[in-house]
This record gives sequence, C-alpha cells and structure tokens, in this order.
Amino acid sequence: MKLVILGPPGAGKGTQAAKLSEELSLPRIVTGDMLRLEVAGATALGKRAEEYMGKGLLVPDQLIVEMIRKRLSQEDARDGFILDGFPRNVEQADAFEGMSDVDAVVYLNVSEEEVVERFSGRRACSQCQAIYHVRARPPQVGGRCDRCGGEIRQRVDDREDVVRQRFQTYRQKTEPLVEYYQRRSLLVEVNGSGTIAEVHGNIKAALASRGLL
Ligand code: AMP
Repeated sequence: MKLVILGPPGAGKGTQAAKLSEELSLPRIVTGDMLRLEVAGATALGKRAEEYMGKGLLVPDQLIVEMIRKRLSQEDARDGFILDGFPRNVEQADAFEGMSDVDAVVYLNVSEEEVVERFSGRRACSQCQAIYHVRARPPQVGGRCDRCGGEIRQRVDDREDVVRQRFQTYRQKTEPLVEYYQRRSLLVEVNGSGTIAEVHGNIKAALASRGLL
C-alpha cells in the first residue's frame, strides 16, 4: 500500500504514520526527519536546508524532489510506503505523480486551537526523532527517550515563532493539496482530534471503507 499523510503541523502525522508503518510493515518516509539528519551531519544538503527550516519555510522543491526520488528507488519502498511531509505543495505533488502511483492520501483534519495546544508540550528525541508530549505522551524516565535513551528536547522548528510561520506556510502552500487530491478521488479525510488510539482507529476505518485494509 502506498500512502501519503497530509495535515497541518502538529496534526499527529508522525505519530499516526509510525503506528501504521509498524502495523502494516511499510517503510515510513519522513522528509522532516531526513532533512534534520542531513542538518545534524552538516552535509551539503543539510547546510542548504537549515536556513529554510529554521525560519519555518519550505526547503526548495528541487532539493526535496531529488531526495524523495532517491529514497523511493530503494528496494524497501518498491511495493509500499507511508510518506509523511511530502508532497508539501502543488509543484511537489506534480513531480510525485511522475514518480509513483499512490493508493490514498490520508488527510488529518484538526482545528488550529487543538494544534497550538499540542505544540506547546511537544518534545522530540534529539537522536532518533521519536515524538513525546509533556502531558499526553511523556517519556517513562524523565528527559530520556524510551526507545534509544537520547536526550529529549524541544525542536528548534517547534518554537512558537517558527510554529506560527510553519502554519502560514501550511495554509498557503500545503492546504491546496486537499483539493488537489480530492479531484483525483484519492483524499481520505479523517477526524484528527481525539486520543492517539481514537485517531488511529479513525484512519483504519477510513482505509477499510475504501477496501484498502
Ligand atoms: P516537518 O517535520 O515535516 O514539519 O518538517 C520540518 C521542516 O522541514 C519544514 O518546516 C520545512 O522547512 C522542511 N521540510 C520538510 N518536508 C519538506 C518538503 N516536502 N518540502 C519542503 N520543505 C520540507
């Protein structure tokens, strides 16, 4: 199964993509994580991406499209994947159409107020990028990642000023993809508010009703 997860920043795309990827044994392709690794490794791509990411702006399409093209050509992604963070605008969606087919685009619909609440408590592992929340999903041992023991911090791009810009970028660039995929009859809209388990259930029900599960 080839899935795209779409939604505003903080909608829970990463958490839900991780759960689906485990259950369906599909590789999860997360452009934000791929870019953060490039930044941490101070690669040529990382250095170019960093200036945009730190401002909540989109990294230029050409860099992202090449990065995804390479990743999708790897063996493990041939028969299925879950894409989280790509495509992010109509240009990327057009490029993606020339690269791969897709079975469904899951759109996590969440109100802006709920997202703001989630962001204020959101934390991430500085090593493996696992996502936590100070109230909804705290780590078992204070300040350390349950999976790898890495230090848990607030991500630079989760700071309030950057979040506000990421939202604006989402509304302007990414939200038009809802209509884009609706027109192609690929959009599966899911209510993204509620607990992690509830939203996961909503996604599975929506995919099942389309005969995909
Ligand atoms: P995310 O964790 O998906 O919110 O991504 C964090 C940041 O990485 C974004 O604010 C962008 O600067 C950059 N980024 C991630 N995916 C893309 C993409 N498909 N196109 C352009 N920039 C991206």
